[in-house]
Amino acid sequence: MDKYEVLKQYFGYDAFRDGQEKMIDAITSGRDVLGIMPTGAGKSLCYQIPALMAGENGGITLVISPLISLMKDQVSALNQAGVHAAYLNSSLTPGQYYKALGYAREGRYPIIYVAPERLLTPEFLDFAVHAKIAMVAVDEAHCVSQWGQDFRPGYLKIEEFLCTLPKRPVVSAFTATATAEVRDDIIDLLKLQDPVVTTTGFDRPNLYFEVQSPKDKYAAVKTYIEEHAGQCGIVYCLTRKLVEEVTEKLMKDGFSVTRYHAGLSDSERKQNQEDFIFDRAQIMVATNAFGMGIDKSNVRFVIHYNMPKNMESYYQEAGRAGRDGEPADCLLLYGGRDVVTNQMFIDNNRDNEELDDVTRAIVAERDRERLKKMTFYCFTNDCLREYILRYFGEYGSGYCGNCSNCKTQFEEMDVTEIAKAIVGCVAECRERYGTTVILDTVHGAATVKIRNYHMDENSHYGESSKVPTYRLRQILNFLQVKEYLVVTSDEYAIVKLGKNAAALLNSDDEKVTMKLPKEQERVKTGKTSGAKKTKMTAGSENFTEEETTLFDLLKELRREIARE
Ligand code: ADP
Ligand code: MG
Ligand code: ZN
Repeated sequence: MDKYEVLKQYFGYDAFRDGQEKMIDAITSGRDVLGIMPTGAGKSLCYQIPALMAGENGGITLVISPLISLMKDQVSALNQAGVHAAYLNSSLTPGQYYKALGYAREGRYPIIYVAPERLLTPEFLDFAVHAKIAMVAVDEAHCVSQWGQDFRPGYLKIEEFLCTLPKRPVVSAFTATATAEVRDDIIDLLKLQDPVVTTTGFDRPNLYFEVQSPKDKYAAVKTYIEEHAGQCGIVYCLTRKLVEEVTEKLMKDGFSVTRYHAGLSDSERKQNQEDFIFDRAQIMVATNAFGMGIDKSNVRFVIHYNMPKNMESYYQEAGRAGRDGEPADCLLLYGGRDVVTNQMFIDNNRDNEELDDVTRAIVAERDRERLKKMTFYCFTNDCLREYILRYFGEYGSGYCGNCSNCKTQFEEMDVTEIAKAIVGCVAECRERYGTTVILDTVHGAATVKIRNYHMDENSHYGESSKVPTYRLRQILNFLQVKEYLVVTSDEYAIVKLGKNAAALLNSDDEKVTMKLPKEQERVKTGKTSGAKKTKMTAGSENFTEEETTLFDLLKELRREIARE
């Protein structure tokens, strides 16, 4: 079967997504690959399809994956699609493990998921060196990097394992972490050989991003959920204690809610996760322990009750919304305490205990740097999506129209009356003048030119005459786009009526709306950014020393970015 047939027959899809084909072609031609694609982009297919193709010739693919739940999900999805796949990890009893390994020896499984810690165990090695391993796929490959979010020492053993195999298989690695350090680490530590690297766009246009700094976070969450009745979503909190608090409040308020954090028993975590996945509970309140590998497509919102520790975490967690491609909301509730709490986590980081002092200091410094950029996200007045994409090394257009900053700084305005005034003026002037005269006339300017042309000095265009000329000009330009007006392209640039002009002048039903940048003073008093501005300039008296330092750093950062 070719890749298209496999895609259709096993997965039921007709077309590849961005990046998938390039990865699949490279793997099947024997090249190592590194795929950097955002959560939900479809990384699994990139190695599953070559695996199934290799399987036709008896080749086995090992997939190294960090989480039992991830392996189980993928294996059961493959089994349902009619693929023999198995996982080998600590969730199996020794009896089950040996049985599965026995089947694997018989070549029953073209795809085997295995935990990295298993690779160098004698039983597994004995299987692997005698098997026809065609490919090793490393999923969540950022786990190999100490710069990554989820460093797993077991991942460092992968390379050693590859070396013990009689023939080096094709190695493919996949991650959603796009930063340069992590990418370089993956290539170095897995010793990828001249890999084909693909980075697909990190933009998720269906996600709406918003930052709020509410006085009462719980009230904000409650309001949001009430306004989005029936939708499922995740509320992320920084601490277990907060998870408990928020869960309890939401329950009292009658919402369908469950919780997840590392302090719960395995069985409760499993139960709660399933309740959420199978829509028995509508809202999941959780720490960041929840989510890696969760493939629930209809999550309509992800609310961060606290600012997370860095942009990587934020985008990964927020990215669990809207995996079906439908509109979804990512709301971050910022509070000054969040900075302090995260700072504390960095200072007391227990994950790094095995590191030497120098490395630990470097790690802490890097984490502070990341926290700073996360905090700056909460304060920027620019397009939030642009900020995120720039963080991950991409560029947007600067205006996405689908984030709270774009929404507060641009607004959809009904300009029908002004449009009628402008088009009406062109008609009254019998299509003889250029834009400046038209706009001045509407504006009621008593310029010499208007007097010379014997035109009405006092504009009779009512409210429209109070609109500033630069704005009238924006609207006039828009009217050309919408073919209410045409400006001749000769040297006189005369404004004439377009094909839609009659409809506008003769009907009361025709509405003209357009997106306009908000007036400066409106931006300042606008809800979100106004609150931010006052915060930023409120002076140090309301803030802890740490926050004040942070603000200074932020200002510095902003200047840095402006220079770039
Ligand atoms: P990732 O590992 O990159 O986060 P997954 O591999 O879990 O993403 O895929 C996310 C979802 O997208 C899955 O439900 C998968 O079936 C679906 N998917 C993957 N590739 C395609 C495709 N070519 N067409 C349609 N859906 C796809
Ligand atoms: Mg994945
Ligand atoms: Zn935007």
